[in-house]
This record gives sequence, structure tokens and C-alpha cells, in this order.
Amino acid sequence: MGEAIGFIGVGAMGGPMCKRLIGAGYEVTAFDPNSSALDVIVSAGAKRAGSTRELADSVEVIFVSLPTPPIVKAVAEEAMQGSKLKLLIDLSTTGPRAAQDIGEMLNSNGVEMLDSPVSGGVGGAEKGTLAVMVSGPEAHWEKWKPALQAIGHNAFFVGETQGHGQMMKLINNLLSATAMVASAEAFALGAKAGLDPDVMVNVINAGSGANTAVRDKFPKSILTRTFDYGFRTELMYKDVKLCLEEAEAMGTPMWVGQPVKQWWSLALARGGVTEDFSNIMRYVEEQAGVEVRTRKNDPKP
Ligand code: NAD
Repeated sequence: MGEAIGFIGVGAMGGPMCKRLIGAGYEVTAFDPNSSALDVIVSAGAKRAGSTRELADSVEVIFVSLPTPPIVKAVAEEAMQGSKLKLLIDLSTTGPRAAQDIGEMLNSNGVEMLDSPVSGGVGGAEKGTLAVMVSGPEAHWEKWKPALQAIGHNAFFVGETQGHGQMMKLINNLLSATAMVASAEAFALGAKAGLDPDVMVNVINAGSGANTAVRDKFPKSILTRTFDYGFRTELMYKDVKLCLEEAEAMGTPMWVGQPVKQWWSLALARGGVTEDFSNIMRYVEEQAGVEVRTRKNDPKP
């Protein structure tokens, strides 16, 4: 049997990442207050923990994948009281200042941290192709590299400065969020001008406008009108907001970032916290007075 580890937060991302660790031979014990999410992981071979504290009393290393910085902090606070815990590996997106704050809190209680946010969506988590951006003590990176590579074969060590992995992630996601709204505007214009959205996807993906929104999100969840990509609008908004806060704190202009945030703010206000972020297209369509959908299933004239 492989090394014993803990995993907390087995949701859209945490579930498949946890399964990859089980598949890589780790002996995983998991906790999530959502019992149906936990059931899935237990049937994939994990042991069930009754609470964060119970888990931190039984393993030295815990991975977490949780929605927001306050939740990560609350879970870390409970975990550091555990009698066995020595290292927390945070796969969530929290932003650098939260990572530094949580890291200091853990350190003063004898627990170390790697902040290791991920990029690549639920599909990447299932396939193990995520980009993982790791910062913290290098010795822990060396030791846990095989596990982090099981989660994402593109695992990068960003440096020892706590929070640099998070900074990297916010920059990446600002670009991803920008590509999504800019592409939504561009597709609304094209559809209104009479272009076929499927043709637009093919051309842009072969041309210099290529980006991950047009490559992955438009064909899978927008043109099909399924709006089910697997990332909630509230999380996209959180990432953009955290990035702009960092830019402001550092006196770095982000003039393009401001209207990008406005779009996500509108999507959040309209769609609420549980809606998938691909619905941004519907709010752009409302402004443009057009619908962007595949014509593949249309009856032949
Ligand atoms: P999710 O809501 O699907 O999963 C989070 C899980 O945490 C849920 O199962 C929830 O029950 C659990 N949880 C909540 N509060 C808890 C607590 N106090 N103790 C223990 N467990 C608790 O969210 P997700 O989409 O999996 O995102 C997780 C993190 O990964 C976020 O920080 C997000 O920004 C980041 N992320 C998500 C994606 C994506 O495509 N979904 C991609 C990259 C990064």
C-alpha cells in the first residue's frame, strides 16, 4: 500500500484529483460535508473521515480543494489542531495574500504548506493534465512531486515564496476570463453578421485569435447550449476580483481587467452563485440581440 494521505473537498475538481491520487497508489482518507460527493470517492477506494479534525489526527499530509479563501482558512485552522498533521497542500484558488496569511497561521502551529492551485478544468482533473503551480518549501515539493504530477503532469515549482503559486494562478485565470468574455463578444458580432458559429470556431482555432475559450468552452458548452462546462461563475468572478485586488495593491494598471470584471459581476448578479460560467454568453447575447448556437442539427433547407 502507498503512503497515507488525506483529502478534503471532493467537489467538481477535488473529486477527480482525489481519484487520480487513489489511482497513483496513495492510501487516501477523504472528508467532505457533502456526503454524496464523499460517497463517490469512497466507492473509488478512499476511506471516509468524519471531520477535518479526525483526518488531521490520522495523517501527516492533507490535500484540500475548497471554494473560497475563508473556507480554506477555517479548514486549515481546524486541521492544524490535529495531532499528526505536518503539511497542508492547498489546491484551491485563494490568492497570494490569503496563502501567506494561512501559511503563517499554519507555520506558527508547526504545520507547513504548499500552495498549489491548479488550472485546466474538470476535464483536466479527470485526465491528470492540469497545470499545477506550486510554491512553498522546496523539500516538500521534491517529496510530493510524484503526487502533484499524478494530479497534473504539468506540475511547476514556482518558488519558495509562499503565495507565488497563487499569484501565477490569478494571472493565468485573468487571461482565461478575458478570453471568455472577449470571445463571447466576438461570437455575438459574428452571429449577428450571419457567420456560422461552427465555422467561426474552426477558423479561430486555426488562426491567430485561438484561445482556450474558443478551443474548449464554445464547442463543448456554448454552441451546444448545454452551459455545463463545470466551473461556477462565482469562482471565475472570485479569481478576477482577487487578481485586480493584487494589481491595485501593487500599483499595476489593469485597464482591460476592469471591464472583464464587470462582465463577470453582471453574470454573477444575473445567474447567481451556482450557475456555470459558460452562461456568460447568454448575457452578452441579451445585449447584442442575437443567439450563438450550433447549426449542425438544423434541418436542411
Ligand atoms: P466545488 O464547490 O465543486 O467543490 C468544493 C468542495 O468543498 C465541495 O464538495 C464542498 O462540499 C466542499 N466543502 C465546502 N466547505 C467545506 C468545508 N468547510 N470542509 C470541507 N469541505 C468543504 O468547487 P470546485 O469547482 O471543485 O473548486 C474547488 C477549488 O478549485 C476552488 O478554489 C476553485 O476556484 C478551484 N478551481 C476550480 C476549477 C473548475 O474548473 N471547477 C478549475 C481550477 C481551479
